[in-house]
Amino acid sequence: MSRPDPAVLAGTCCLVFPDVYEVGMSHFGLRVLAAEVNAEPDLCAERAFAPWPDMAAVLRASRTPLWALESGRPVREFDVVGITLPHELAAATVLGTLELAGIPLCAADRADGDPVVLGGGTWASHPAALEPFFDALFVGDGEGALAGIVREVGEARRRGVPRRRLLEQLGERPEILVPALRGTSAPGARAVRRRLRALPEAWPYAAGPVPGLAAVFDRVTLEIARGCGGGCRFCQAGYVYRPERTRGVEAVVAEAIASLRHTGYDELSLTSLSTADHPRLGELLERLAPLCAGRTVALGVSSLRAYGLPDAALRVLAHTRRTGLTLAPEAGTQRLRDVISKSVGEADLLEGVRRIAAAGWRRVKLYFMLGLPTETDEDLQGIVDLVQRVIAAGRSAGRGVFQAGVSLSTFVPKPHTPFQWEAMPPLPEILRRQELLRRRLRSRSVEVAVHDARGSVLEALLGRGDARAAAAVLAAHRAGAYLDAWTEHFSWDRWQAALEAAGLSVEQAARALDPDAPTPWDHVVDGVSPVFLRRERERAYAARPTPRCDPSPERFRCVACGLDCAPPSGPAVASAPAAPEARPFDASRSSPVVSVAPVPVAAEGAPFDASSLPPADLVASAATPPVWWRMVLRKSGPAVWLGHLDFVRAVVRALRRAGLPPAYSCGFHPQPRLVVGAPLPLGLLGLAEPVDVLFDAPPADPAAWPARLTRRAHRGVEFLELRAMGEGNPHLGRAVAAAEYLVAVPGRDEADARRRAAAALAAERLVVRDPRRPAWQERDARPALLEVEPAAVGARLGALAPPGVGWGLRLVVPVQGCPPLALLGALLLDEAPGAVTAARAALLDRDRIPLR
Ligand code: SF4
Repeated sequence: MSRPDPAVLAGTCCLVFPDVYEVGMSHFGLRVLAAEVNAEPDLCAERAFAPWPDMAAVLRASRTPLWALESGRPVREFDVVGITLPHELAAATVLGTLELAGIPLCAADRADGDPVVLGGGTWASHPAALEPFFDALFVGDGEGALAGIVREVGEARRRGVPRRRLLEQLGERPEILVPALRGTSAPGARAVRRRLRALPEAWPYAAGPVPGLAAVFDRVTLEIARGCGGGCRFCQAGYVYRPERTRGVEAVVAEAIASLRHTGYDELSLTSLSTADHPRLGELLERLAPLCAGRTVALGVSSLRAYGLPDAALRVLAHTRRTGLTLAPEAGTQRLRDVISKSVGEADLLEGVRRIAAAGWRRVKLYFMLGLPTETDEDLQGIVDLVQRVIAAGRSAGRGVFQAGVSLSTFVPKPHTPFQWEAMPPLPEILRRQELLRRRLRSRSVEVAVHDARGSVLEALLGRGDARAAAAVLAAHRAGAYLDAWTEHFSWDRWQAALEAAGLSVEQAARALDPDAPTPWDHVVDGVSPVFLRRERERAYAARPTPRCDPSPERFRCVACGLDCAPPSGPAVASAPAAPEARPFDASRSSPVVSVAPVPVAAEGAPFDASSLPPADLVASAATPPVWWRMVLRKSGPAVWLGHLDFVRAVVRALRRAGLPPAYSCGFHPQPRLVVGAPLPLGLLGLAEPVDVLFDAPPADPAAWPARLTRRAHRGVEFLELRAMGEGNPHLGRAVAAAEYLVAVPGRDEADARRRAAAALAAERLVVRDPRRPAWQERDARPALLEVEPAAVGARLGALAPPGVGWGLRLVVPVQGCPPLALLGALLLDEAPGAVTAARAALLDRDRIPLR
């Protein structure tokens, strides 16, 4: 995709995720925001991610600034650098990423030419540990706002508005905190109010970027609701995303169709904080199930609790690819569940287990939290007893086999929750409780996963921290902290030293805060009143749960949290049952609700551009039996960095996007019927890669399809040919015997090529090693060199030849037994690896005839 010249745009934004690509591209918000900004013709959003540590070291050593993926422009050249703040463990990675981008770490050190560093996400609602590093922090829902901010910043920079004035201008927005101007977390600082908008019925997600490399969650994700009225007292998301807003069935179905067509994914997942609470989940699944089945799309539902599911939902889920079901009782006894206001009783839990076991599930995942306020060893034993009863219930209702995966996390007192003032148990005590449960839960039917409590302690210290926490983050960054959410990169010793240097200690996490004293996040108003939070805390200590709320007009039920959801009006709507002790919230913290005109709901499929569908006469009706076809593809440009499996996924997605889906295997995990000749090593050009595919409905006009498929493929993946192979599997994999490679170095002439070819032919041994295989050691690759000769590589590569590439070598090697990259290395030992151009020209059969 060509990128517009930034000089002609009103504003540019680089969205940075402080984790690696595979994690960042799984983040729903980032994909939505990128799509939304790019929907504006005068704006541009690109993406950058934290590189893996080895790549980060290369960038530092070569003084190469971090760049944006789409254009390769340095991140620091954008008008806005928008950093997602998903959790506290990303703190040091934020600084590491800024440093790699060449942007001064502290806002105070940035000059007019530097971008505006804008943070957003859950952590922006209690940002004291981050404030020195950000020019601005956005609190609340970013959709519908980011594009305006990017335009405002871009236009101001182009007019030469001084940085200070620009930040003042941004700070006039009620949802933006400019730490340098507002006195930040100091008592009395001006409040910033969370931006809250109606959940859009439609948004341009269908145009969202599709990752080339497999992301952790590599699928269409549809947010069906935001916020949660459950009111669990430990759950920050349940408070900072209030009120619960759900999307309509028609809107979700229309978006599912558009997204599947646009992206080519064969997996779709519905998501929200608690998907089972969507009031029309059963109806939604019943609409989506046939739609997905007809397109060979796996339908999944995330955050799906096992109890209280409507029958319709259970019926559909039992017949689609099995979605994992969870129980999140969080605590083992009813007393403690009442303390945390978890609105589920044991009878409901066990009944839910019996229903899902009867429907065919053989496993359920149970989430528990250790260290909750007032927890005792009796509550821990309650966890053990409950797990056993769950397994017994599952066995009695199923076929005798039922297992539980038990996840044990640690309670973290989170800002903006009723438990924000609470203490955590000291670290040694948490470790004792973890060990106690590990011992008591030991069983062949139970798999226990225990989360690292040290990370939780750090979360508490940074999340509730003040300016000293910011100093600790800086110290940890300077000591090398990076990617702390990855256990292999997390160093507790490093963080302890950084905390100590900043005047903090681990013991501080174990201290309770004074509920009457100011907190470092008082200046961020999320709409939930502190009066309500204190009242909830008192109810917790009295073990009194609070009923869940529901702002929908049909079931309006309010516990007066302060957000002031409008009660329904008119005779058709029943009056809301008031919660016990409900009272008006503090008017000084009035609701920041922003009304957004609802987007008209489109009919099924209507939002999608019909031009992306194949003309009816280009797809024949279903063949009987299905026929194998051979495609020949070229892999060049950015596609050379797609690994083998990513390349296969890119081919399948292109077929699906173009409306020519491959046939799929049967069973619970259907796979596309595709055969690739042999994996192409990473970084090599592929000039003519054969791929066989089985079509249920083959193309009626094969000549029209290569161009059509190429238009819908990953950049650098080009379809050259498509032709029928006839009935029966042509066994491409077994037909491939050897491969022809071309290798050249810019500036080398024919004489050099002849000398190298002669030397290779004369060599008795060609010693190679494959660094990826320690057991390989040194091997003699000379017998694998079936052919070697000088070749006019530049002419063979044509437009793909880099400047200066003329003469080089043509090699033929078997596909089995010798890694081609190792062999090329042995032939070109005297060349810098980056200077070499290498391509696989063809795969050959036993007679060394190219397979096409
Ligand atoms: S105002 Fe009432 S309905 Fe709205 S989020 Fe708060 S408790 Fe729920």
